[in-house]
Amino acid sequence: MLTINNLHAQIEDKKILNGIDLQINAGEVHAIMGPNGSGKSTLASVLAGRSDYEVTDGTVEFDGVDLLEMSPEERAREGLFLAFQYPIEIPGVSTTNFIKTAVNEARKHRGQDALDAVSFLKLMKERMKLVKIDQSLLSRSLNEGFSGGEKKRNEIFQMAMLEPKLAILDETDSGLDIDALRIVADGVNALRSKDNATLVITHYQRLLDYIVPDFVHVLYKGRIVKSGGKELALELEEKGYDFIKQTIAEGV
Ligand code: ADP
Ligand code: MG
Ligand code: MG
Repeated sequence: MLTINNLHAQIEDKKILNGIDLQINAGEVHAIMGPNGSGKSTLASVLAGRSDYEVTDGTVEFDGVDLLEMSPEERAREGLFLAFQYPIEIPGVSTTNFIKTAVNEARKHRGQDALDAVSFLKLMKERMKLVKIDQSLLSRSLNEGFSGGEKKRNEIFQMAMLEPKLAILDETDSGLDIDALRIVADGVNALRSKDNATLVITHYQRLLDYIVPDFVHVLYKGRIVKSGGKELALELEEKGYDFIKQTIAEGV
């Protein structure tokens, strides 16, 4: 589904990603962990197509097409979902309307008719139940005055409505309480299927107690320096990132 090959990226002449290789297949959940400043959010931003990052080398293929050639909107339409670290607030636009527009744009792109009001409502009700979101949240302006947990729930609800092929969740290094982690994890687990994939980016092992990944990768200084199964997250929790730094320093 996603093949990243030798990806290099920089911002304002500062090299941040130094040759990332990663393959994600349908049905898999991958976690990227790493110390602060290792380039985790940069990787998410490059995959989302944020223009302030310059890709200087490498390729990214998404479902057989060149991802890097696509605009951020095209990427979303092709089934890439990015949950941003700091979701935007849009006063005056209800969450429901925002999602309806996004869902119908995605459908149009796939050659499907827009959902009529009744079908949209039916889909909403079904997915609301799945991610345990309250109706009252959806009638409020998008993210305006939402608590951290409400923003997370809303983000996961958007994901449930859009049914992305690949969801990339970049979690903040701080401020996610246990409740918010649970919301994210329950949502991801409920939506997990053999046809979609998830890339969870996190600084903390805690989240991976709830979302059990198939693969864990450690990003350090813009490179994936170690990959393994879910046990790698536990090893990191136990030994800390210093262990990774030391291993690299020793050239092991
Ligand atoms: P992480 O998410 O792993 O904490 P980031 O991708 O946010 O790491 O940052 C990686 C490195 O790139 C850091 O050294 C950071 O200071 C730098 N960086 C990130 N964004 C910018 C920016 N907009 N301008 C300059 N440097 C940046
Ligand atoms: Mg950071
Ligand atoms: Mg980050």
